[in-house]
Amino acid sequence: MTNSSQPGASVHVLIIGAGFGGLGLAIQLQKAGIHDFLILEKGSDVGGTWRDNSYPGAACDVPSHLYSFSFEPKADWSRKFAPQAEIFAYQRHCADKYGLRRHIRFGCEVEGAEFDAPSGTWQVRTRNGERFRARALVSACGQLNRPAWPRIPGLDAFKGELFHSAGWNHDYPLDGKRVAVIGTGASAIQFVPQIAPKVAKLSLFQRSAAYVIPKPDRAYRSWERAVMRRLPWLQKVDRVLKYIQHESRVLAFTVIPPLMKLMQFRFRQHLARGIADPALRQRLVPDYPLGCKRILISNDFYPALARPNVEVIDGGIGEVTENAVVTRDGQRHEVDAIILGTGFAATDFLAPMSIRGLGGRDLNQAWRDGAEAYLGVSVSGFPNLFILYGPNTNLGHNSIIYMLESQFRYVLDGIRALQGLRYLDLKPEVQQRFNQRLQRDVRRTVWEQGCNSWYKTADGRNTNNWPGFTFSYRQQTRRLDLDLYECTR
Ligand SMILES: Cc1cc2nc3c(=O)[nH]c(=O)nc-3n(C[C@H](O)[C@H](O)[C@H](O)COP(=O)(O)OP(=O)(O)OC[C@H]3O[C@@H](n4cnc5c(N)ncnc54)[C@H](O)[C@@H]3O)c2cc1C
Repeated sequence: MTNSSQPGASVHVLIIGAGFGGLGLAIQLQKAGIHDFLILEKGSDVGGTWRDNSYPGAACDVPSHLYSFSFEPKADWSRKFAPQAEIFAYQRHCADKYGLRRHIRFGCEVEGAEFDAPSGTWQVRTRNGERFRARALVSACGQLNRPAWPRIPGLDAFKGELFHSAGWNHDYPLDGKRVAVIGTGASAIQFVPQIAPKVAKLSLFQRSAAYVIPKPDRAYRSWERAVMRRLPWLQKVDRVLKYIQHESRVLAFTVIPPLMKLMQFRFRQHLARGIADPALRQRLVPDYPLGCKRILISNDFYPALARPNVEVIDGGIGEVTENAVVTRDGQRHEVDAIILGTGFAATDFLAPMSIRGLGGRDLNQAWRDGAEAYLGVSVSGFPNLFILYGPNTNLGHNSIIYMLESQFRYVLDGIRALQGLRYLDLKPEVQQRFNQRLQRDVRRTVWEQGCNSWYKTADGRNTNNWPGFTFSYRQQTRRLDLDLYECTR
């Protein structure tokens, strides 16, 4: 085996990112007997999403028995929806158990990669000037790893404490402070209930209200965990049942959007139970159809908003001054700290990396009208490049780990195929046909029923979500069909 952790190494497979995607693929490579791989990770540990998002209340919103690797079940999750610390510990456990750390270089951010056709290799360079060569390049950068900072006039000049939820400052004590939270997405609804009882005043700036429904969460009892440990098949059954339960929701998202009306009823009930004030309740009703943006689950968000020290402010932010957030109607809200719950640059995919394929073709340029790939994995003109959790493989209803595991098989097939080839390049017409159909399917979904969301580019093209059943995705990725690729020997 190449000593893949030395500078300038030449490896068979180079993976960018050590989140669920990078770790899972590495485990599968090892199982397939491929040990000549290297993972470059810009952070200082494995984990990706779950390393970075350590904000109070962070937890998964797909049950843990389903939101974990099928090949590495964990019987003793503390809750149905495990907290971040536990998911992060699970990822570290995976890295240690499978001896992955010796394959990972931390603090190593990939700046760009160029494909060298004569040798059929990717030449990869990092921000700190190192170079690597690899036959296959795998991006496992995720869709949600670059925090989105809002463009608000004056934000840079704010003199108080300012941080994004994905880079929480745990050293800053929020107790007794006046805090502005900007955003009401999946992260904000988790941390607002945690910090609201501590702060003197919490001003929640809402651009658009979210649909929040109950979270069927609770701690597992010790006997339940003991049974799961003793009877591993029971956990598998639980996983399958949860999978079916979540998968059935896709009918409402993509096939029969009117089914969302049933969930609408649950939302109304949940809102009414949490918020007694009819005026506030009215302001918390979204003005777009349910499901168009991500549906959120929480049992404590609405009760937190009903607290006397919490104010919901809509109408838009005009500017931020040295010590205040000023709304468009001129109202000043003086604060000591601003926390951004503004999500991620989800449609940027592999940017800011510069990826150059055949003939020096630039991926960011190829994707200027929105990212697209075949099955989210292969892009024509970029041979031997495989993308995990790539374009149109995000979900609104089920576990991303299921999608990643489907991709592992496909990518492994591609990597194996390289044994006898110089390179493997997706035929352009395959990509075109696939995406024409995909975008046609997207148009039928609830995501297209009148809202902007992080699933879409500024021009309104949905580049992020898979518009169908996840088992259909698994079926389509079950093997890589070499007929769809130009195979160069
Ligand atoms: C707060 C939050 C909660 C979520 N909850 C759920 C959930 O409940 N269920 C669900 O299915 N999904 C959830 N997701 C989506 C989640 O991102 C995926 O489930 C999954 O963690 C993605 O794993 P990944 O490895 O593809 O990407 P990430 O976990 O984002 O990992 C990408 C890694 O790549 C590294 N990287 C990026 N660029 C470079 C570079 N240029 N050079 C080197 N390294 C680089 C990053 O540092 C990071 O470690 C959530 C996301 C967030 C943000």
